[in-house]
Amino acid sequence: MGSMHTRIETFDRPLEREIAYLKARADGMIGMIVVGGISPNREGRLEQDGPVLDRSSDLDYHKALTAAVPETPLFLQILHAGRYSKIPECVSAGTQKSPISPYPPRSLSTAEVWRTIDDYVETAVIARECGYAGIEIMGSEGYFINQFLAPRTNQRSDEFGGSFEGRSRLAIEIVRGIRKRLGASYPMLFRISALELVEGGMTEDETIQLAQELERAGVDGLNTGIGWHEARIPTVAYTVPRAAWVEATRRLKRAVSVPVMASNRINDPFVAEDILRSGDADLVSLARQMFADPAFAKKVYEDKPEAINTCIACNQACLDRIFVQKAPSCLVNPRAVRELEFPDGKAAKPRKIAVIGGGPAGMTFSFNAAERGHAVTLFEAGPELGGQLLLAKAVPDKIEFDETLRYFNYRIKEEGVEVRTNTRATADQLAGFDHVVIATGVKPRTPEIKGIDGPNVVSYPDLLSGKARVGRRVAIIGAGGIGFDAAEYLLDHPRRQPSESEFRREYGVAAQAGGLTFLGRPQAEHRKDLEITIMQRSDERIGDKLSITIGWIKRDRLLRAGVKFRAGLRYRQITENGIEIETAEGVQLIEADTVVVCAGQESEKDLYHDLRAREISCSIIGGAHVAAEVDALRAIDEATRLAMEL
Ligand code: SF4
Repeated sequence: MGSMHTRIETFDRPLEREIAYLKARADGMIGMIVVGGISPNREGRLEQDGPVLDRSSDLDYHKALTAAVPETPLFLQILHAGRYSKIPECVSAGTQKSPISPYPPRSLSTAEVWRTIDDYVETAVIARECGYAGIEIMGSEGYFINQFLAPRTNQRSDEFGGSFEGRSRLAIEIVRGIRKRLGASYPMLFRISALELVEGGMTEDETIQLAQELERAGVDGLNTGIGWHEARIPTVAYTVPRAAWVEATRRLKRAVSVPVMASNRINDPFVAEDILRSGDADLVSLARQMFADPAFAKKVYEDKPEAINTCIACNQACLDRIFVQKAPSCLVNPRAVRELEFPDGKAAKPRKIAVIGGGPAGMTFSFNAAERGHAVTLFEAGPELGGQLLLAKAVPDKIEFDETLRYFNYRIKEEGVEVRTNTRATADQLAGFDHVVIATGVKPRTPEIKGIDGPNVVSYPDLLSGKARVGRRVAIIGAGGIGFDAAEYLLDHPRRQPSESEFRREYGVAAQAGGLTFLGRPQAEHRKDLEITIMQRSDERIGDKLSITIGWIKRDRLLRAGVKFRAGLRYRQITENGIEIETAEGVQLIEADTVVVCAGQESEKDLYHDLRAREISCSIIGGAHVAAEVDALRAIDEATRLAMEL
């Protein structure tokens, strides 16, 4: 399991929480866990409260962690953030601010770089004293060591700059120093930037040279890092094909004799097995997948891949939260990093519970409640379970969301939930249950615009479910997540997963300097005959409200596909020629054969009000509760918590 930021140190009872988090993964038979990253000194912290391991740290905390999972080797990742730190005292090879950081760094003097090397060595010594089975030096993703390695950020003229020998001196001296202090037998990994994906990054030759120098200096293995955090090429989002970066690991593997580890977008046991069998890597490192399912390895070992809760690479509950300094969890597994809040166990009083609505909230509640001993009947008005996930299935990018549907259906069956599809439950039918959970979801909101009921207007559910036909010119009302999904659906229909080579072609990824071809970015393959305009009333930049880590990818892709963005307008009327809008410049007709309405949604609450009026015990969750945006993250969390309470 690769290291992930958990921000557990910012919670109450951090030690108890971290032990519960690690124990769940150790029980899941993970072979080795990398924890951290932790900074070797205060100026290398990621943020004000970021963890540091030095002689002033609470070493008992770390000793308790390693003692809590004695069977599972814990490696500690040492991560100095350099200019990616969010503290004003941050330091780096130079003074250039990163595009994703709030403060410009101070450039370290030569003596200070040597002192920082000593800090790394001391942290490694302390890690061993605390019982960590080994360490991983974070040398990739654009952090401190990477900032010294690349000419992009290192224009120094002292012994730590200039030639590649100078730029790599920091990395090599850290490894040498640790090896010297800790002897030959203490395991040390180095996470190397196998592909930089930024201009001015290391060349392929330099990366290979670095890997070989690190081996000579004493590392026991290399982990693959891909892309700086400031790179404008997606590396871990669901738009990236699975195992897309293995080619970079393969190049490393050929160059060194120590074990090499593949990472990034590996969320499936068959993909992992293929990587190992092909000889491209000696180990695979999965990170977010272990948030999604701590028992991943155990399920593979027991030959139950269908029981795996797959990470869908949405970033919604993990990376998106980390980037705004919030505590992460997982959309498909709200227990992640919050294990203490969801103790296992049966309900004190098993009840007969009816659940109305088989979308993400209803399904999640049903299998969790059944696991706790309740007798659960799930009513779904449509022919199959899935709700909004069935619509997501149609969006080209969201191929991974099928996995959630597969897993939820598996869990429903496993826990013996009684499912009644094609059944619209009435209040009369529900009177015999001890409790009713309303998860009836949402219906699309129809804005009041003259002509909205015309034959050329379609709703997003009709579009995504293939019921509606659209013309060549399409105007989309609403530029939220669903508006973007609708545009992508139109451009890439029928959907298919891009191959690794198509993905690399789209983003111009190559093995040359910095991992980019610099040939200009070719267009993605998509329908070229369409004219799409996506509109919103507010004058904010279109796409700004989407996920931090994925919104820019989607925005960039639609712009490259020639989709027109129109913000800051008022809808006047829809006619047979398109939609008339009014902006500061006046009235204008957006010519369109079809208008697609993605103007939000409203809760389906009728049954809930009916049950309340009859004083039938009931709760309401998911979109039926709050319909602000189709929000599977909140729906799944709310459903899991309610199941714990009942
Ligand atoms: Fe994976 Fe999404 Fe969960 Fe993050 S929130 S671990 S990306 S499923």
